[in-house]
Amino acid sequence: MIVSLKQSADPAAVLRALASRGLWVSQVEQGAGGAQCHYVIAPHSAAVKVDELAAIEGVSGVTTAKATHPLVERQGPVVDVGGAKIGAGSPAFICGPCSVESKEHVSLLARRLSALGVSFLRGGAFKPRTSPYSFQGHGVVALRWMREAADATGMRVVTEALSETDVPAVAEHADVVQIGSRNMHNYALLKAVGRAGRPALLKRGMAATLDEWLKAGEYLLSSGAPSVIFCERGIRGFDDATRNLLDLGAVALLVHVHRLPVIVDPSHGAGRRDLILPLGRAALAVGAAGLMIETHDDPPSALSDGPQAVPLEAMEGLLRELDASARAAVRRCEY
Ligand code: PEP
Ligand code: MN
Repeated sequence: MIVSLKQSADPAAVLRALASRGLWVSQVEQGAGGAQCHYVIAPHSAAVKVDELAAIEGVSGVTTAKATHPLVERQGPVVDVGGAKIGAGSPAFICGPCSVESKEHVSLLARRLSALGVSFLRGGAFKPRTSPYSFQGHGVVALRWMREAADATGMRVVTEALSETDVPAVAEHADVVQIGSRNMHNYALLKAVGRAGRPALLKRGMAATLDEWLKAGEYLLSSGAPSVIFCERGIRGFDDATRNLLDLGAVALLVHVHRLPVIVDPSHGAGRRDLILPLGRAALAVGAAGLMIETHDDPPSALSDGPQAVPLEAMEGLLRELDASARAAVRRCEY
């Protein structure tokens, strides 16, 4: 991006105004004999709207390179899900079982979680399992159980569409359609979810670069999704000591540079319940808009992902501690 100055401008004042917005002015080109002055803004410094820069006193014009994900850039950091805001200040908690196990079970979890102030109920009806012999989810009936449990408690439903065939049913029952990590590169699915017109929660592919992740968000927005929430759930590292490698650097970049709403999922990131608190705290401290946390009233009997499920009775203390970390989060870096 190039910021051009008027002849009458005070270059030092414009430079200060650019720097105070987190922009790196990597090069200054000053023509000889009082010719026009231009500032070149380094790519990957903060994302700032062109109009905001054009309005700085002394600026005559701003030239931008064509963005590769313009709709994502334009979206902004706050998303509205039926009146519940994500990215607006207090952390959003998206909690529930890994899989929707039964009508009674999801209803019990919804009642207990909503009483703790959780506004988003998660749970898989269609499960992406590594083994075809593992529990695959109860399907459409589980969507109905979830919707009823959420309606009875005033919660919003976040659940995954595993394939294009599932999209109509998932979009009918969910407030937010989740795209799982294994499907981030499934462009036909991204387009189908976009066309369904629901906000989407886009998990990062386990080997996806940030550019690929952002462009997957662009697929959703360009196909009709009203908004995209990005969800970091860990990428594949070389060490299996934790289930995945939770990339909080990527979260910081998406939050502070691209100014996007990012949810962190420490459950799938770490794969073990005893790391949810420290990783959740770290995620909120770097600026995540909220957390996705798997919970279960009896983790050993869970149909999937028992080792990472936080026991329901521990959720109150966990959420209280996490809330405190969100208050200490870095909101904006000014240098
Ligand atoms: C999930 O959230 O239920 C899930 C399967 O996560 P991921 O796609 O991140 O593995
Ligand atoms: Mn799970």
